[in-house]
Amino acid sequence: MVTVASILAIKGNAVLTIAPHRTMREAVEMLAERGVGALVVTGVDGAVLGILSERDAVRVLASEGARMLDSTVARIMTSRVKTCTPFDTADDVMEMMTAGRFRHVPVMEGGKLSGIVSIGDVVKHRLAAFESEHQAMREYIATA
Ligand code: AMP
Repeated sequence: MVTVASILAIKGNAVLTIAPHRTMREAVEMLAERGVGALVVTGVDGAVLGILSERDAVRVLASEGARMLDSTVARIMTSRVKTCTPFDTADDVMEMMTAGRFRHVPVMEGGKLSGIVSIGDVVKHRLAAFESEHQAMREYIATA
């Protein structure tokens, strides 16, 4: 079974974070430069205050135009963040993403942010699991 812990063991625990008082200009620069789809918004104590994805940036750009770049991240982010734990499975996270229509889930361990899983990570690991099951089945059939 593919768990969030096994995904993080390969991709690592790094999470790109941004403070809520930062500007959207800084946020979009970070999204572009680092090639990620979302930033976790954290307070000084490291608490998760929200999540800001490229979709949020596009939405406010469409409704407010380029002046949104001077807005704070706090005004644009989603504050009710759905998180998972390392013990959740890839299927649990996929269900969460499908039900909530988002593609990023921060991982919390002992109340602390300890990683992030994207839909790309989940799909990649599930495909790898399918491949190895398929291979094992083929080997079994060949020896039966
Ligand atoms: P995404 O598909 O991740 O680009 O996000 C789509 C929308 O869902 C954006 O408004 C995000 O701020 C929001 N969002 C992304 N991840 C989460 C999450 N884990 N919990 C709640 N909202 C989220």
